[in-house]
Amino acid sequence: MSLVPDLAGRVALVTGASRGIGRSIALALGEAGADVAVNYRSRADDAQAVAAAIRALGRRSVALGADVSGAEAVARLVAATEEALGPIDVLVNNAGMALRRGLEELSEADFDRTIAVNLKSAFLCTQAVWPGMRARRWGRIVNISSGAARAAGVVGAHYNASKAGMEGLTRGYAAHLAKDGIAVNAVAPSQIETEMTAAHRAEMAARIPVGRLGTGEEVAQAVLMVIGNAYMTGTTVQVNGGLHFN
Ligand code: NAP
Repeated sequence: MSLVPDLAGRVALVTGASRGIGRSIALALGEAGADVAVNYRSRADDAQAVAAAIRALGRRSVALGADVSGAEAVARLVAATEEALGPIDVLVNNAGMALRRGLEELSEADFDRTIAVNLKSAFLCTQAVWPGMRARRWGRIVNISSGAARAAGVVGAHYNASKAGMEGLTRGYAAHLAKDGIAVNAVAPSQIETEMTAAHRAEMAARIPVGRLGTGEEVAQAVLMVIGNAYMTGTTVQVNGGLHFN
């Protein structure tokens, strides 16, 4: 058994893959042999560059713009992916936002937008792909959670709630789809070097037991691991430099 999954002939969709963790995951899936749809919300040029890098590996890849917090946009995204590359075998729900808010300034609009972008998006994308995966008796869904699902973190209560919800969603879909050859897992990073953590990088580095922030590649490695392991489902893998152990 190969320890790196062989994804040749598989089609993957990664949401929020124009930069950061999603970009690293999309590239790693391409390296493992998959054809990859690179979703973005606003940064078309960055997403096109990621798709070009995957094509340079000899895979097929397209960059597709869609705000995954809305049902119509997700339906268009999934249809465009399938038209360009074929049925989706691997879905990585990575798109997310982290509005840093204290309790005094946290508004209803902040809460609703965070839940829509971080949690509802995963529900919408998963609902769109699981019937096809079930018909083909194979699928992998990986939800990018956060250490904030279980620990407090610095972003705020709205973000904690969205990521805790992501892990509940993971368990719910895993339980219903295990018998159909579909594994659903979460990967929960903390303090990865991306634009999301740029504002508090120095403040955080000193608090992380391994002494530095993590990389997108280290998160992608955990994503590939759960995709390659058919006996893991419904679980969350932490990638956090020893920040917390729950
Ligand atoms: P990032 O650098 O801010 O990148 C966010 C990505 O998500 C971008 O590609 C962005 O696309 C996309 N995106 C945002 N809203 C979207 C929407 N509504 N529809 C489609 N795409 C959208 O973030 P990151 O640090 O890589 O984080 C990726 C995931 O990991 C998020 O779910 C985040 O919560 C989670 N996470 C990150 C950390 C960390 O330390 N960085 C820790 C824990 C969890 P555009 O650029 O095109 O707008």
